[in-house]
Amino acid sequence: MNIRAIAISIALITSISGWVNTQHASAHEETKISKQTDSKDKAIIERPDSYWKSKLDPHTYQVTRCSATEPAFSNKYWDNHRDGTYVCSNCGAILFDSKDKFDSGTGWPSFTKPQSGSVKIRPDLSIDIERNEVICKRCGAHLGHLFTDGPAPTGERFCINSASLNFDQNKPAQNVR
Ligand code: FE
Repeated sequence: MNIRAIAISIALITSISGWVNTQHASAHEETKISKQTDSKDKAIIERPDSYWKSKLDPHTYQVTRCSATEPAFSNKYWDNHRDGTYVCSNCGAILFDSKDKFDSGTGWPSFTKPQSGSVKIRPDLSIDIERNEVICKRCGAHLGHLFTDGPAPTGERFCINSASLNFDQNKPAQNVR
């Protein structure tokens, strides 16, 4: 191997080593950010009821923290047909995309699916009929209920209170973590 070949080999090894270090640092940074976000989300879900009562207007508080249901055909978004994103009225998490909204005829905003990983479903036995409650995964806000009489492709109907949502015409739809 001549001197020129050796020099090229050294330059190549140095360059690869630098790239590997950069990748490692980048992965480390991503892990750090993810942990910070996780602990922030943990702090949000653990906020006491008194926090939400002082932060939210009485109507939003009743719906999202006491599981009240708004009247049909008399709420902010049941007839909203604009393109955009629906975020949680309590914590701002992205929950639904207007592309997944459909006219269910019920008088409540209805969606075939939420943004991936944004909601949790749990049994609701508060009335005689067993229902599935939909809550915001990030802050625990009551959003509405999930029914299985929705249209294709999911066959699901996420029946959501407008008070649980804020509509953002400019925010691009995207999957949340
Ligand atoms: Fe939330």
